[in-house]
Amino acid sequence: MDTHYDAIVVGARVAGASTAMLLARAGARVALIDRSRHGSDTLSTHGLMRAGVLQLARWGVLEEVVAAGTPAIGRTLFHYGGEETVQVSIRPSPGVQALYAPRRHLLDRILVGAAAASGVDVAHDVAVTGVLTDHGRVEGVTATTGDHRRLKLRSRLVIGADGIRSTVASAVGAPVVRRGRSGGAVLYRYYAGLETAGYEWAYGDGAAAGMIPTNDGLTCVFVATDPGRMRELRRDGTEAAFDALLGLGAPDQRHRVDAATAGGRIHGWGGLPGFVREAAGPGWALVGDAGYFRDPITTHGMTDAMRDAELLATAVLAGWGGRVTESAALRDYQLRRDALSASLFDATDRIAAYDWDPSTIRQLLRRVSSAMTDEVELLEGLPTGPDQSPARRILPGQRESRDEREWPWMSTSSFSGGSR
Ligand SMILES: Cc1cc2nc3c(=O)[nH]c(=O)nc-3n(C[C@H](O)[C@H](O)[C@H](O)COP(=O)(O)OP(=O)(O)OC[C@H]3O[C@@H](n4cnc5c(N)ncnc54)[C@H](O)[C@@H]3O)c2cc1C
Repeated sequence: MDTHYDAIVVGARVAGASTAMLLARAGARVALIDRSRHGSDTLSTHGLMRAGVLQLARWGVLEEVVAAGTPAIGRTLFHYGGEETVQVSIRPSPGVQALYAPRRHLLDRILVGAAAASGVDVAHDVAVTGVLTDHGRVEGVTATTGDHRRLKLRSRLVIGADGIRSTVASAVGAPVVRRGRSGGAVLYRYYAGLETAGYEWAYGDGAAAGMIPTNDGLTCVFVATDPGRMRELRRDGTEAAFDALLGLGAPDQRHRVDAATAGGRIHGWGGLPGFVREAAGPGWALVGDAGYFRDPITTHGMTDAMRDAELLATAVLAGWGGRVTESAALRDYQLRRDALSASLFDATDRIAAYDWDPSTIRQLLRRVSSAMTDEVELLEGLPTGPDQSPARRILPGQRESRDEREWPWMSTSSFSGGSR
């Protein structure tokens, strides 16, 4: 039996869940598919920037993040090699009274819940294996369920929100249009009883460190450097490398970390330079890390993903609503994404090289800050107020309700939320 959607979104985390939710709130029939378990964790140091918090507020999901006990962050401290500390207070503005760094198993679950509540059919434990095409246009996906059933699902648009190693991007052959030169290496772990003044970033001798207060009274502490140095330091073990980099990156802050209680293992990541992929083509589009990835040192990937979710959803709806052609709308999405990302991409690439001196890192961080201001201004200019209604139908030809029997794949335990 054929199952037909307006959009199939592959990847149910910040980029995919947000895009699916926005499309469904406008009346589209959307399936959101992820091969991972519902509510699972992923690599992240959790820091959301102002634009990310603003999106959560505009979409009406920030309250749930706050209610889950995510600590409010009122200031950011920049420590420069033991020489100087600059403190920036978070200016309260409509929607953003503070910053937050929610654990991913919490944030991603909340966004998926908001998508399901908006009418999205959500499926976990289902891996997309390829795309269906007709005369060069993508018209659906092939997938395999956790219990090894093979599916074909059809849609007007397939959205790849499936991260760095995107199956959708490879299946459609989305070209990389830009590559960075540097990919840093990161180690992070959680500490209990670590006093911080807010977000704290530290930049030392070819190394950086950060302290990010998150849920459950824990602080995520990361250290980062270039991959060659990381390899060298890890010859003495990961613990030793973590300690050495903390001493190099945050010499004046390490005593606070040493006095706190480390919990769990050290997580590692590294060595992938940023890239930008073509954002869309006939019947497909990419959002989040699938389309645009930069080194995590500027802690901005989730914020970008939520920004681009809205840019993409707006473009898709303009195309479907007949105001512009779909290809013009998707081209506009790519242009806006790239214009907003270019400066941050360059600055992040330079920072991730870890070859800066104190004056250069200050300049680069000023560029990051200015790119973030542009982003916030764009989002503040968008219509405000979350529309949480599942059926604000602006698309032509929508049916008012569906019968679950139409979706044979809904009967597996993998599926939740959904049918309006
Ligand atoms: C070490 C590290 C620290 C970071 N710290 C921060 C930070 O502090 N702040 C910040 O803003 N960003 C941070 N980031 C970046 C951030 O994690 C990413 O930018 C963000 O997760 C991108 O979200 P996404 O939804 O695009 O993709 P992802 O979070 O990668 O989600 C992709 C989803 O797609 C699913 N998927 C993949 N392939 C398939 C398939 N074939 N079929 C079905 N499902 C599939 C995956 O299971 C996954 O759930 C960090 C990244 C790293 C590596």
